[in-house]
Amino acid sequence: MDKKKILRNIPSVDKVLKWQEIKESLEVLGQTHVTTVVRDHIEDYRKRLLAGEKLEADHLKKSILREIQDLISPYFCRAVNGLGIVLHTGLGRAPFNERIASIVHDMSKGYSRLQIDEEGKRADRYRKISRLLQILTGAEAGIIVNNNAAATMLVLSAMAKGKEVIVSRGQLIEIGGSYRIPDVMAQSGAIMREVGTTNRTHLRDYKEAINENTGALLRVHQSNYRIIGFTKEVSLAELVELGRKHNIPVIDDLGSGALIDLSKYGLPKEPMVQESIAAGADIACFSGDKLIGGPQCGIIVGKRQYVERIKKNPLTRALRCDKLTNAVLEGTLQLFLLKENDLIINHSVLGVLLKPLAEIKRQARHCAKALRTDLSADLDVSVIQSVSEIGGGSLTTEQLPTYAVAVKPKTLSVSDLARALRLCRIPVYGRVAEDTLLLDFRTVLKGENEIIVEAFTSILKPKQ
Ligand SMILES: *Cc1c(COP(=O)(O)O)cnc(C)c1O
Repeated sequence: MDKKKILRNIPSVDKVLKWQEIKESLEVLGQTHVTTVVRDHIEDYRKRLLAGEKLEADHLKKSILREIQDLISPYFCRAVNGLGIVLHTGLGRAPFNERIASIVHDMSKGYSRLQIDEEGKRADRYRKISRLLQILTGAEAGIIVNNNAAATMLVLSAMAKGKEVIVSRGQLIEIGGSYRIPDVMAQSGAIMREVGTTNRTHLRDYKEAINENTGALLRVHQSNYRIIGFTKEVSLAELVELGRKHNIPVIDDLGSGALIDLSKYGLPKEPMVQESIAAGADIACFSGDKLIGGPQCGIIVGKRQYVERIKKNPLTRALRCDKLTNAVLEGTLQLFLLKENDLIINHSVLGVLLKPLAEIKRQARHCAKALRTDLSADLDVSVIQSVSEIGGGSLTTEQLPTYAVAVKPKTLSVSDLARALRLCRIPVYGRVAEDTLLLDFRTVLKGENEIIVEAFTSILKPKQ
């Protein structure tokens, strides 16, 4: 077909708006918004036809109706994590549970108490969280911001803008999503002064770099990688001693930041916030939604004078957290006040990390049996041993033993099955390994078996 003919066959916006199904959507949605969608899709349709793509006759109508449906449906929704990555950023990192859900539900009914005192006066929004952090970490004060990337940048800016911050070359990390220590440092206005080498940094390296323009010593937890072999890192205690001698504050970016010692349970030890404070860090910061298991936020704790200085920085106002974040973090931190056994039972991330293998196996078998009962004509289902990852830059190199339900579809391809599961009302995310779909039951939560079975059934035996 020549160009002119192609262009002549593309309907006008007005014409499309008169199509029956599109007209129906106009009964519910604003005309200007539907028009915008229609115009964009016609434009896209035109480009693709001109590029020589072969499109079905009803392609345009279908794509418009699909987008309208998408626009009015929630994208942000509950999902099932069968990937076995405990802290998966794409799946919202720390999972919540009924306890947190009831906090969010209550806060969402109308107005809420956020920063107002018993006298009805404006109060300090950070007071309650700060008190909980004091008790849990031993720090003098605390404050929260949007995430740990924001926390690091804010801390550097408030404490060392225009000054040099000394950091080991072995700690110049990059986390996913373009978070890199040198870039964060540059944004904060602090001047990065790197010392040592990738694998070995000595105390004397820091010592020799100190001058009258040194603003802080920074330690960064390596989080998502390890340097092994011929290595040397300076301990936080040594940095603190050096800092004290020269009257220079020490900042500790803990990354995940644990509040309990995971090594007691056979997991590798993640740096603990209490230990950082006890070692004398002037400021420590960590994520709220990694091992803490709370909402996305960055938690800053440390010496009162520095926390106060950070609070007064104008960036703090720009990075402050909303009411839901505050409420969910309060509820999460309150769990850490409990006896450790009760904490683990009620804390979703710790629950997943410490889930007994026998329980994982039982739940996986249960699900496999249900799938076999209803869908054996379409699926080969078995339970296999596998490994989960912790993710979120925590306990990186560690893999946890687990059991997965392994599904081989007989009537469609495994990638089509995986995609159909992701398109279910409650999306189910599984891992494709060759011709098998794996659902890791460490991260499949209690009560989610029914959701999985329903998802498979809706795909393989759709109700007419
Ligand atoms: C994860 C991580 C961050 C970024 O934290 P977010 O809460 O994702 O912004 C910063 N520093 C370290 C060391 C980390 O592990």
